[in-house]
Amino acid sequence: MEVVINDGCISCGLCTDLCPEFEMGPEGTAVPVENPVPEKWEGCSYEAAENCPVSVIEIEE
Ligand code: SF4
Repeated sequence: MEVVINDGCISCGLCTDLCPEFEMGPEGTAVPVENPVPEKWEGCSYEAAENCPVSVIEIEE
């Protein structure tokens, strides 16, 4: 699976707290760390996508 972060991240930091798949990029918005997502990070990537307050995290199977 892969994660895509669409425009509109409000830099709340939730995904980076929940999962090592996400970090803050140079523009101050979240970016994926590794695509395809390592298996051990898949569960928390889903959790981040479900909980992102502006629903900009997309999961591609
Ligand atoms: S949870 Fe959503 S809004 Fe918050 S930092 Fe991550 S992508 Fe951005």
